[in-house]
Amino acid sequence: MKNALTFDIEEYFHAEALSGVVRPEDWSGLESRVVDSTRRLLDILDREQVRATFFILGWVAERHPALVREIESLGHEIACHGYAHRMIQHLNRHELAEDVTRAKKVLEDVAGTSVIGYRAPTFSVVRETLWSLDVLSEAGFRYDSSIFPVRHDRYGIPGAPRFPHRVRTAGGGEIAEFPLSTICLPGWRLQVAGGGYFRLFPLAWTRWAIRRLNERERQPAIIYLHPWEFDPQQPRVTSAALRSKFRHYVNLQHTEARLRKLLQQFSFAPLQDIFSDQFFRGESPPRVVGRTEPIA
Ligand SMILES: [Zn+2]
Repeated sequence: MKNALTFDIEEYFHAEALSGVVRPEDWSGLESRVVDSTRRLLDILDREQVRATFFILGWVAERHPALVREIESLGHEIACHGYAHRMIQHLNRHELAEDVTRAKKVLEDVAGTSVIGYRAPTFSVVRETLWSLDVLSEAGFRYDSSIFPVRHDRYGIPGAPRFPHRVRTAGGGEIAEFPLSTICLPGWRLQVAGGGYFRLFPLAWTRWAIRRLNERERQPAIIYLHPWEFDPQQPRVTSAALRSKFRHYVNLQHTEARLRKLLQQFSFAPLQDIFSDQFFRGESPPRVVGRTEPIA
């Protein structure tokens, strides 16, 4: 079973946990770490011969085009994380269209390849922003991987479908959705997908959860991480709230070793490979599981 390995390529200061204290107008003056930390990531993948999907922020691609080309030349999928890392809740339809179109164009121009996948900053495709799937479909994206079917203080659609499916959008378009992985236990839906959870929970939990998804539910796991999670030396933003700092900094020193072990035990591929199965190309009759309003 192929699982999807995905990375959201952004600077440490783009992370939502720090957004309350680091303003976008300050970004240009902060130390850039994304090239070195992404290269560390590329080395790990190269050593284990694994290809992945890189959802790259347009803001980063514009400043570091050589990094985008390097990722592409190593056979990874180039996908889009928007331009300015603004959560969709803070945008109207027109602003979102502008943000994703600008980012898609930058990435396609730099990488010389078409970009079909999108992941929203901070998984901000939530119930009240499901209209965004229309915008994404109109902008030429074939799949989205932004819905976290869990209850969480910042994001999530509790009760949304847990596995890849096609969505017919309210505007009549169609887009594939790859929700981030969850596990169901009696009375609970838990995240297994990556980020802070990957760093906080024991590796044994992540392994158990992926095995359960693959063997019992016959579904791929969809894992996400960020380059700053491989950079324990990154500058500390001391003015952030305690909870935000915990989320951002917990166990950064273990991410690399944990990922290596995971790559040795499971089989991973870019999301595009899973998308290119007939079902998601749209060649089989549409099996639309959800509508944008409501999705579940
Ligand atoms: Zn992000």
